[in-house]
Amino acid sequence: MNFKNLNLIDPIIRAITEGGYSKPTEIQHSAIPHVLDGKDIIACAQTGTGKTAAFAIPILQLLKNNKKEHRNVRALILTPTRELAIQIETNFKQYSKYLNLSQLSIFGGVKPQQQITALKKRTDTLIATPGRLLDLIGQGLVDLSKIEIFVLDEADRMLDMGFVNDVKKIIKLLPKVRQTLFFSATMPEETRKFANTILKQPLEVKVSPVSSTAKTVQQSVYFVEKRDKTQLLINLLKEQPLKRSLIFTRTKHGADKLVKKLRLSGLKAAAIHGNKSQNARQQTLEDFKQERTLILIATDIASRGIDISELSHVINYEIPNIPETYVHRIGRTGRAGTEGRAVSFCDREERVHLKNIQKLTGSTIVEVKYNQSLN
Ligand code: AMP
Repeated sequence: MNFKNLNLIDPIIRAITEGGYSKPTEIQHSAIPHVLDGKDIIACAQTGTGKTAAFAIPILQLLKNNKKEHRNVRALILTPTRELAIQIETNFKQYSKYLNLSQLSIFGGVKPQQQITALKKRTDTLIATPGRLLDLIGQGLVDLSKIEIFVLDEADRMLDMGFVNDVKKIIKLLPKVRQTLFFSATMPEETRKFANTILKQPLEVKVSPVSSTAKTVQQSVYFVEKRDKTQLLINLLKEQPLKRSLIFTRTKHGADKLVKKLRLSGLKAAAIHGNKSQNARQQTLEDFKQERTLILIATDIASRGIDISELSHVINYEIPNIPETYVHRIGRTGRAGTEGRAVSFCDREERVHLKNIQKLTGSTIVEVKYNQSLN
C-alpha cells in the first residue's frame, strides 16, 4: 500500500515524498479514506503512529478540492499544548507546500500581538489551544461560523487537563453541519461519552491500542528506595554515555529539583514544563533536538509535543499512577522501528503502579540490579 492508493492528489504526494514518507502508517491507511469520504471518525492512536498526518493530509485535500471564496477559517484543530500546536502547524506547512492553503497556530503563554497580526491574513486551517482561542474569539478576532472540519486532538489529555468546559464552549460556536474527527490516545469511558456528544455516526478507527507498547522498546525496572533515586540516575548517566535521554518526573517542581542535582554532579540537563515561558520551552527543545543538551527532564503534559526521533532512552524517574501514561511515555523511544530503551525507577509506594502497568500491557518488565549498566 502506498499513498497513491489512497487517492491523494499529486501536490500532496510530492510534498510528503520529499518529507521522506514512503508509505502510509497504519492509522493513515485506516483513517484517510474515511476522512476523504466526509465521515466523522473516532480514532484511537498513540502518539508516534503518524496520527497528525492521518488528519492533516485528508483535510488539506478536502480544502483544496472544495474551494471557497470567503476568507474565514475552514478547518479547526484543537490541541491541548503549545508544543503540539506548533508541531501540527509545522506538519500542515510541510504537507501543503504545493497547495495554496494557509495555516496558523495560536496558543497561550506568549503575548498575543503576533498571533493577532497573523490572524488578519487569510487562514484556512487554524490550530489552537482552547484558552487562547476563546480569548481571541472574545475579542472578535476569530469567527468559527464557517468551519467545515473540526479536529479534537489528544482528547483524553484535553479532558485530563480540565479543558472540557472550554472545549464545550468552542464546540457551541461551530456550525451544526460539519465533519468532526476525534483523536485520542486512550479511550476511557469519560472520553468516549464525550465523543458521543459531538460526533455523528462516527466510524471507529483503531490501531495500536494504548495497552500495546512498541516491540522495539526494551523495558526494564530498578527497584530502589525513593531517597536513592537521584544517585542511581547520576550513576547510570555517567556510567553509560547515552544519546539523548528523556527523563520523566511527576511534578514541575520535581523536574527543576532534579536538573539542579544533576548539574551539581556535572551533568548538563534541562527541564521542560508548563511553568516555563514559551520561548524558554522552545529553546530547551531546540537544544535537545540539536544535541546541545542530551538530558531532558519533562513532566507528562509538557512532553506531549516532543517529536524527536532517535531518542535512545526514556527514564521514568517516577512511575506514573495512570498505566496509560506509561505507555505514552515510552512511546517516545523506539519510534518507527528504531531501537529504544525504557528504564523505570520503582520505589516501594510505586509498586502498585508498576503492577497496574504490567496488567495493562500484558508484559513483565525485566528487573535490573544496580550493578548492571543501562545498556
Ligand atoms: P505523530 O504520531 O503525528 O506525532 O507522528 C510521528 C512522527 O512520524 C512524525 O515525525 C511524523 O513526521 C512521522 N511520520 C508520520 N507519517 C509518516 C509516514 N507515513 N512515514 C514516515 N514518517 C511519518
